[in-house]
This record gives sequence, structure tokens and C-alpha cells, in this order.
Amino acid sequence: MMVRTRSADETRAVAAALGALLEAGDVVLLVGDLGAGKTTFAQGVARGLGVREPVTSPTFTIVQEYRGRVPVAHVDVYRLDRLQELHDLGLDEHYDERVTLVEWGEAVARALPPEHAVVRLEAAGGDDERLVTVETRGTRWRRRRAAIEDALAPFGGRGGEN
Ligand code: ADP
Ligand code: MG
Repeated sequence: MMVRTRSADETRAVAAALGALLEAGDVVLLVGDLGAGKTTFAQGVARGLGVREPVTSPTFTIVQEYRGRVPVAHVDVYRLDRLQELHDLGLDEHYDERVTLVEWGEAVARALPPEHAVVRLEAAGGDDERLVTVETRGTRWRRRRAAIEDALAPFGGRGGEN
């Protein structure tokens, strides 16, 4: 599924629409270059989950937790040197009870539960344009794809293979 956004606010709106569908146990990997909009997307997801506090980049804290309809963990693994450090954060013990958003590269996917969603953000055209692609991995997500497609449709979302 793919959407083109034309501003940070539009990316937040798309993300909020996705966030409204999320539930405890969901893991979402946010992939993209520095400045692509991963934290911006996380802000929207948190809003869609009813978080009212401002969501900022957890670059220094590595994990930041917010209270919403369900707890939200926002993780930025940018500063981690090794995948082992991701395990050391102890995220595994809390997956079931919260929505976990993990920023940064695809490389961390193998340290995450095999069933997760991947949101990819890429520059597209003008400075404020981004291509937002949502892929899902595993049956947990497969049965929710129609709902996600419906949520993205108002933003011109298009279906895709993944
Ligand atoms: P990352 O976490 O991927 O490093 P950020 O979300 O922190 O990226 O930063 C993205 C920057 O790009 C912000 O300054 C944001 O305002 C800007 N921006 C401009 N257009 C968009 C867009 N369409 N979607 C997301 N961010 C955008
Ligand atoms: Mg960021």
C-alpha cells in the first residue's frame, strides 16, 4: 500500500489513520533516511492511539513510552552499535502490552517479532513530498490489510503486493 504526502501534517494524518487501527502487540518498523519523516510518522501514529503528550525523537533516550488508548513505545535504534543492544533493551518482554514503533533501518527487522508492519518513507518530488509505503508481514496483519487500505484510501492510498 502506498500513499504520497505533500506535508509533514499530511504524513501525520496518514499515520493517525493507521494508528487508530493498532492494538497492543502490534510492532511497526519505520524505515527511511535521516529526515525522511520516521519521527513525524510516529507522532501521527501516537495521535491516532490517543496520545496527547508531544512525541519527540527518542534518539538519546532510545526508548520513550507514552500513554494512549494503549501504551506506545517509541524506539530509535540509530545510536545502537549492535543488534544485540536492541535485545538488551528488553522490548520483547513488553510487546504484548503495548504498540511498539521502531525507527531506523530494515536491518533491525530480524531482531523484531516476525509479524510486524513496515512503513517506508522516501523523498518524492518536491522538498515536502514523501512516498509512504506500508507492508505487512505475517497473518496477524494479513487479515487487517483491508482495514488499513480503507484507512489510507482518503489519502489516495493504492494497494500493492505486500
Ligand atoms: P526522521 O525521523 O526520519 O529522521 P523526522 O520526522 O524527524 O525524520 O523529520 C522529517 C522532516 O521533514 C521534518 O522536519 C518534517 O517537518 C519534514 N517534512 C517535510 N515534508 C514532510 C512530509 N511530507 N512527511 C514527513 N515529514 C516531512
Ligand atoms: Mg527520527
